[in-house]
Amino acid sequence: MKCAFCGDQVVYVRQYDKTALCIKHFNEQMVKRTQRTITKHKMLKRDDRVAVGVSGGKDSIALLNILTKIESEFPESEIVAITIDEGIEGYREEGMLYAKKNIQKLNIEHHIYSFKSDFGYDLDEIISKLGERGKSREFGACSYCGILRRKILNQAAQDVGADILLTGHNLEDEAETVLLNIIRGDIQRLSRLDPKPRKIHTSLVPRAKPFRNSPQAEIVMYCYLNDLEYQEIQCPYAVEAYRGDVREFIFKTQEKQPMLSFNILRGHEKLLKMMQTVPPKKELRECNNCGEATTSDFCRGCWLKNQLDS
Ligand SMILES: [Zn+2]
Ligand SMILES: [Zn+2]
Repeated sequence: MKCAFCGDQVVYVRQYDKTALCIKHFNEQMVKRTQRTITKHKMLKRDDRVAVGVSGGKDSIALLNILTKIESEFPESEIVAITIDEGIEGYREEGMLYAKKNIQKLNIEHHIYSFKSDFGYDLDEIISKLGERGKSREFGACSYCGILRRKILNQAAQDVGADILLTGHNLEDEAETVLLNIIRGDIQRLSRLDPKPRKIHTSLVPRAKPFRNSPQAEIVMYCYLNDLEYQEIQCPYAVEAYRGDVREFIFKTQEKQPMLSFNILRGHEKLLKMMQTVPPKKELRECNNCGEATTSDFCRGCWLKNQLDS
């Protein structure tokens, strides 16, 4: 088999359209697709100060690498990396190491924030304080972690003066989020899941996901072909996640229907156009404690803090 573009030796065959690619064209296609996604959804402006959330996993490491290639054409823009230390013993240290290593190699400004110093408790403490799930704890560990990571990432992005915050969520992550919101009947959140970054509130830095069209398998391959080291082990709390079932469904179905995740995202984009003509039921207001945008009296981070302090 030969590369569809140049006839060289093939290193990867794209699952969804069977295009055979040599290493040069595989890399080129990865960059081009990211660029197309950024352009299509107007994710970046020429002179943006861009914050990238870098966990040390494959997605954020590959994204940072590809963004620096794209950014080299835009001298007025800047990239800064942000890593959040959730405080997960035996897990976070390794991810932090890979984050630092890759960020240093690219010569990018790196800012580290932590649950402990920015919230007062690290994730291990939160989970042991709230007790076992099903008994005293209402939600899975990932829900608490997600609430706080989101909140601290937003504060960090504001701190470093970023115009936009990018995260490494890939195609299947995004399809999973769409499906989860449908399963939960959470139409509000489904309508807020807009690929185009928006300034919906003064307290929130707009966010975007340039990898939303990049399949996980190709991101893994990109890291491998470009010698990018990343953390491979799963978070010890991931076993609790309800997301896991939906994830399994996506990857299993995708074996027979390789366009599945693309179809879910295209369907969601069409739905969005219709949903955005309907005004939101609950208006955004400011959290009584921290001022961040919320639909109730307190944001979910402050609600959690309150639970832990009492
Ligand atoms: Zn080629
Ligand atoms: Zn708050």
